[in-house]
Amino acid sequence: MKSPVPSLPDTLLIRTGRDPGKQSGYVNPPLFRGSTIMAESYEAWESAKKTDNPYGNYGRFGSPTIRAFEEAIAQLEGGHACQVFPSGLSACTHTLLAFLKAGDHLLITDNVYGPTRSFADGQLARFGIQVEYFDPAIGAGIHALMRPQTRLVFLEVPGSLSFEMADVPAIARVAHAAGALVAIDNSWASPLYFKPFAHGADISIQAATKYILGHSDALLGTVTCNEHAWEIFLPRARLFGETAGPEDVYLALRGLRTLGVRLRQHWQTGLALAQAMAAHPAVSRVMHPALPQDPGHAVWKRDFLGASGLFSFVLATEKQAVLSAFFGALKHFGIGLSWGGFESLALPVGRPLRTARPWEHAGTLIRVHAGLEDAQDLLDDMLAALDIAHARGAGIAPSRQAEPAGALR
Ligand SMILES: *Cc1c(COP(=O)(O)O)cnc(C)c1O
Repeated sequence: MKSPVPSLPDTLLIRTGRDPGKQSGYVNPPLFRGSTIMAESYEAWESAKKTDNPYGNYGRFGSPTIRAFEEAIAQLEGGHACQVFPSGLSACTHTLLAFLKAGDHLLITDNVYGPTRSFADGQLARFGIQVEYFDPAIGAGIHALMRPQTRLVFLEVPGSLSFEMADVPAIARVAHAAGALVAIDNSWASPLYFKPFAHGADISIQAATKYILGHSDALLGTVTCNEHAWEIFLPRARLFGETAGPEDVYLALRGLRTLGVRLRQHWQTGLALAQAMAAHPAVSRVMHPALPQDPGHAVWKRDFLGASGLFSFVLATEKQAVLSAFFGALKHFGIGLSWGGFESLALPVGRPLRTARPWEHAGTLIRVHAGLEDAQDLLDDMLAALDIAHARGAGIAPSRQAEPAGALR
């Protein structure tokens, strides 16, 4: 593998993070397990301590397996360097802990992943950090919320329950002018469909549990930084002693090889489902930024290279019996948390917590993950379950039906 680093994503996914010439010719990097790394002599031990490489002398700082995965993710995200964490949530919380201290002000998007929100409210507030939520549609208007103490703006685009887009470049320009850094939870798009650093982010987080692992068989997270943010992040993050299991990292590296083909299928099937569901009388609203009528569509089209298979819809009912009939009728969608695996999921969300901009959709929010089953099977299954919900009374009142699709309310 002596040719230059390829730039086209599918080729990069195959080539990144492995070097058969250094792996006895084997295609994949070996799985290193371990704690102690022995030096060959006193001199070798003393000089290993003096190098810039912080990883060479103990297993907690990573192995060649882990390094291969971190380098692959940094390359795919377009960042400077990456650190792996034992879960996606841990990647989010360590980002917040590394860049904030007592007295600082954090701006965080109102549609952020629920457990990240719980951490900000439950832990950061205890440490004397001011936590403030903002409307994801705020754009350059975030200027009005900046304070001299604002250190970090935390984004998730689109939000992983309700899929509002945010104008990352506009927000990043304002944040940088005010001396704050911008972190983004980039799990929905994966590093393939949104390039955070090219759009002004300083830090990008992946819940690698989702599309990168892709098989619902492990939990992992990554934090990738640009050079400036990495200098702040690495020394602080290392103090916590977080490590990830080498088997899980190996699986993540393996998942990367098929990320391109899997995502194309998730995207195509998810969009076909979203389009068909938007026309169903039991559905009052579909939230999917790749739909032309979605309020976030223009930003998605401008900044993103694709869509994943995760979106939501509002079933026009809150009746338990109708919800029970709907979920009972689904044969191919399992009820469960997480997403990004090969299997389809439907998750009853209800009403997401909002404080900056009230949640105004009547009905029940349901999140769908389009898996890798046959798309026609999934469509037939979903539409049949919606028909049953409709027959039991889920439906749009005539006045609501008259509203233009995707109206901002
Ligand atoms: C799932 C998820 C996380 C957390 O990942 P875990 O590996 O489950 O801890 C973080 N952010 C988003 C957007 C997620 O969907």
